[in-house]
Order: sequence, then C-alpha cells, then structure tokens
Amino acid sequence: MKKASSVELHKLKKELERLESKVGKGTELVSLHIPPDKNLNDVMSHMRDEYSQANNIKSARTRKNVQAALEVIMQRLKMIKQVPENGLVLLVGTIPRGTKDKMEVYLIHPPEKLQTYVYHCDSKFYLDPLKEMLEEKGSYGLLVLDRGEATVGLLKGKNIEVVKRISSTVPGKHGRGGQSQRRFERLIEIAAHEYFKRVGEHASEVFMNTPDLRGVILGGPGPTKEFFYNEGYLHPKVQEKILGVVDTSYTDEFGIKELVNKSSEIFKDLEITKEKNLVQKFLQEVVKDRGLAAYGEEEVRNLLKMGAVDTILYSEDLESFRVKVKCSNCDYSNLVTTKDIKKLEEELVQEPCPKCNENSLEIEEYTSTLDLLIDIAESTGAKVEVISTDTEEGQQLKAFGGIAAILRFRP
Ligand code: ZN
Repeated sequence: MKKASSVELHKLKKELERLESKVGKGTELVSLHIPPDKNLNDVMSHMRDEYSQANNIKSARTRKNVQAALEVIMQRLKMIKQVPENGLVLLVGTIPRGTKDKMEVYLIHPPEKLQTYVYHCDSKFYLDPLKEMLEEKGSYGLLVLDRGEATVGLLKGKNIEVVKRISSTVPGKHGRGGQSQRRFERLIEIAAHEYFKRVGEHASEVFMNTPDLRGVILGGPGPTKEFFYNEGYLHPKVQEKILGVVDTSYTDEFGIKELVNKSSEIFKDLEITKEKNLVQKFLQEVVKDRGLAAYGEEEVRNLLKMGAVDTILYSEDLESFRVKVKCSNCDYSNLVTTKDIKKLEEELVQEPCPKCNENSLEIEEYTSTLDLLIDIAESTGAKVEVISTDTEEGQQLKAFGGIAAILRFRP
C-alpha cells in the first residue's frame, strides 16, 4: 500500500482540525465514506433509501436538513463517474453561523486507501478513518525468546498478530546420572544451537515476507536474546533491521504484547528520526561557507526555480500565504508574502497605490506558501517534507523562519 507523504498528511491534519470543529444543531451532519471498490449505483440506491427513511425523523428542522444534505450528496454522486483510487469522503451538513444556517459541503480525496464504507448521520462529521491515516504506518517484526520457547509476531498499525510459536527440545541443564557432565553439556549446546537456528529461520522467513517491514524488535527474559542477537541467528537482512533488544517476562503471546508496550519509545524515536536527520543535515550545511543549505521563503523559492533544491523543509506550524495584490483603479499588481491575510487586508486599506496613489489596493487571490512551493517542487523534482515542531530540531527550523532547503548545488 502506498504510504501518504508528509505533505499529504500535513494537509489532511489541517483539514481535519477545521472539520472537527463543525457542529450541527441536531443529528443532521451526513458523512459518506466510499472505498474505491464500492459500486456507485449501490451507494446511490442506499442514499435514496436513507432519504425516504429520513421522512420518519420527528424534528421538522432535522428532517429538512438531513434530506437537504442527502440531496446534495446524490447530486454530487451523479457527477462522479468512478470512485478515485483511494476512495472518496463526502461531508455535507447544515452548520449554524450566527443567526443564519449554512449548508457546507466537503469533498475529500484521502491520501491513503479507505477500507470501509460508512454512512453516518450525527451532530458532528465522522472522521475516524481519516484520523487513523495520520497515525504511523508500516509493520514491525516481533520476536520473544528464551531457551524454552520462542514466539514470532507482527505489529501492523495497532494490531498485534502472533504468527508462530516454536518450542525448544533443549534439555534442562541438570546432568543425568550415568552420563559424563561434559558430554551432556556439549549435547545441550548442540541442541540449543539447532533450536536458535530454527527460530532464526522461521522468524526471518516471516519478517522477510512482510513487505512494509520497518524494523524488528527482540525480547525475552534473561541473556538469551542478547546471545541470539550477537550470534546473528537471523538472516543478515533482518538482522540489520533490529531496532532494539528489550527485556520481557514472557516468551509467549503475553511476551509479544509486553514487547510492544515496552517498545513505544523505540517507535516514537523512529518516527521523528527521519525529521531530525533532515534538519541536522541542513544545520551542518548552513554553518559552512557556501554550504548546501538555504532558508527563508524568498531564497528557497528562487533556488527552487533554478532546480538547485533537493529537499524543502517546511515547519508544520508555519501559516504563510503568497498574495496577489492589485489596484482596482489602475493596472498595478504585486506579489507579497504574509502570515496573516486579515491583517494584510486591513493594511491595504490604509496604503495608497504606488502607481496611481489612490487608496484602492485589494487582494486578488492568495495561495498557501506550502502549496506554491509544492507546485514548483514537482516541476523540478525536489522533495518537500513537513517537519513537526515536537523536536529540538523542529524548533531550530522554526528559528530559521520555518522554511529551509537542502540544496543539490549552489548556483
Ligand atoms: Zn493604482
């Protein structure tokens, strides 16, 4: 499955923040989630059913609003020929605005595949499946073992799956009468080696057949797991993906769950490591004389147009807009960058046009700086990464104005 980029997730996050605040007066906000494999004719007839069922709603206002929302949805559905590859979310409802109510319509193209068809009518929009897309994805290999048994599992999103349990045939360490102690210990070690090999083979097979495997975590009581790790019983490709070795009390299903609970720090670190590395790379370059780094909206934009930018780092906190200002009296126009559209609007009222000197400047249109940079980046093959402000590095990026770039070359 294609993973959404940090830019797509950032946009979704902003959009969900806005949608979460929408509250209807009654249970009259309609949410429709259509996965890509859903037949649109079926959806349409479902909507017709819901429309006639809505006749039973007691409150006249709610009935009117639900049916109005369903009408909008059916109109929209008629215009769609095919469900987009990740599915479609339609949110329609009457939102109170001061003394007036207004019908609001949102059409969302999810950055990842929708899994479940949902029709939902409530006082709020149903956004859970979209919110889940913001959560960390990918699978992690889990292995808990001691000399007695081993359990192989996978963590997929939030789901823990136990894949295999392997028990050992290694005899206990206590010698038996009649056998030489040394010979007996040697037999134990041979049996243990065979058992570890078996565990390594089974686990490697499971992990190597997991396409989105992001890492492996080992656990178990006592020193066996470290021994297993140090001796390299896993396939080299799996071995290099080991993120950590963690103490657990159990080696069965409970051990697997324990392992996941104790690894939350490892997962969290991993999420932000990529971001941290990018910002650190920028910081290393920026202190060099003519290093491969740039910052500030204007400089980054200019270098981007020249094709000199490899990766743009954009702080998730930064609200910035590129605004086209024009004069309604003459043909003057200009592009400016602002963090606050409202404030700019107020300033323009006071400001005379530099060309005709009339107080007739106004905003013609504006685009978010991020969208603008993404557009240019797409044409020059540059990458765009939205950087969270949770880390020290994220804070440092903010200090550079929230927009920075790692360069391919310095023109
Ligand atoms: Zn003018």
